[in-house]
Amino acid sequence: MGLRIYNTKTRQTEEFDPPGGEVRMYICGPTVYDYAHLGHAKAYVVFDIIRRYMEFKGFEMDHVQNFTDIEDAITKRAQEEGIEPSKLAERFIHAFLEDMDRLKIRRAHHYPRVTEHVEDIIHVIQELLDKGRAYVVEGEVYMRAPKGSFGSLSGRSVEDMTVEELPRDSKREGALDFAIWKKTREGEPSWPSPWGQGRPGWHVECYVMATKYLGPTFDIHGGGMDLIFPHHESEDLIAQALGKGDFAHLWLHNGFMTIESEPMSKSLGNFVTIREALKGFDWEVLRYFIMKIHYRETMDYSEGALRKAQKEHSEVASAIMKLKAAKSGAPGEDRALLKEADEVRKAFTEAMDNDFDTGRATKAVLEFAKAVNEVERVPSSTAEKLFLDFCDYCTVLGLCEEEFEA
Ligand SMILES: [Zn+2]
Repeated sequence: MGLRIYNTKTRQTEEFDPPGGEVRMYICGPTVYDYAHLGHAKAYVVFDIIRRYMEFKGFEMDHVQNFTDIEDAITKRAQEEGIEPSKLAERFIHAFLEDMDRLKIRRAHHYPRVTEHVEDIIHVIQELLDKGRAYVVEGEVYMRAPKGSFGSLSGRSVEDMTVEELPRDSKREGALDFAIWKKTREGEPSWPSPWGQGRPGWHVECYVMATKYLGPTFDIHGGGMDLIFPHHESEDLIAQALGKGDFAHLWLHNGFMTIESEPMSKSLGNFVTIREALKGFDWEVLRYFIMKIHYRETMDYSEGALRKAQKEHSEVASAIMKLKAAKSGAPGEDRALLKEADEVRKAFTEAMDNDFDTGRATKAVLEFAKAVNEVERVPSSTAEKLFLDFCDYCTVLGLCEEEFEA
């Protein structure tokens, strides 16, 4: 059995076998007005491992991840600091990429920014207007979302949606219609359009950036669970309204990060940036901690949990160092270890093939590392084989780069 992936849209785990072995993947990127926090670390480490595993299996990836570089939060903070919003966005894009590099997250092939695609977005909005799927009110453009438009991913009905989640402005024809072009106020970044000075809405931005780089139909659209509604459902609605392609085949959503069982929030004072976390712990420990549970599950961050991850990670690192030394040691074979190696490879592959179950995969690698560390001496040919096995696991999980260096 090959790779199977859980699809939020069908609520089923599906066989994954893209034609030609090419995988086109769009991941929603951050809104750049502050330093990336641990919730971002979880999301992007998760998608990094997903990508690494697919690359390991021989798929050719085309990975696109955007930067939302126009947003009220960016403008507000820039005004507070007395600088241009573009300057502020630039600073946090740079910081974001720095943090991702420190976590050894493979860079996307394209990082489109909203500000560089406003023309493309205006074209798509015009197409929606031409098709009668959107309308203009006083310099703003709204997407029509008739009853039954939502629920394609979240499975929720309109009745389930609370008032807060629905757009609140009064100019809309329908209660669920959402803005795809917004009129801007004095001093806010704006672009000329057939409907007046303004800026695009979030949902149409991601639709345009995804399809511009990946085509009207592509393999994977991913993001955090909090993006399912309204963001991803709205993108999907735009795609269906345009009728150019099916948009994303598979929708992947990763679980939240809580801190000491509380949702992470600035107001609760338990907002931890990646930078802060990396002051106390190595990048590998943070990665190892994140991969200990399945990506769709909620993960609880605590110093204790990180210390446990640190201990387990060093068990794996010592096994690798031991094998490295043993490769040039006394010859011979350890049948028991070789047999265990076969079982571990099977367990690892099965776990990863089963919707990227990094929790089970990591556990298999850890148990194997303990077994290696427990034997008194590993003979050279066994060490050589096991060293390559660990190299495969760590390539997929993105661990122990230094230990594998010559
Ligand atoms: Zn998005």
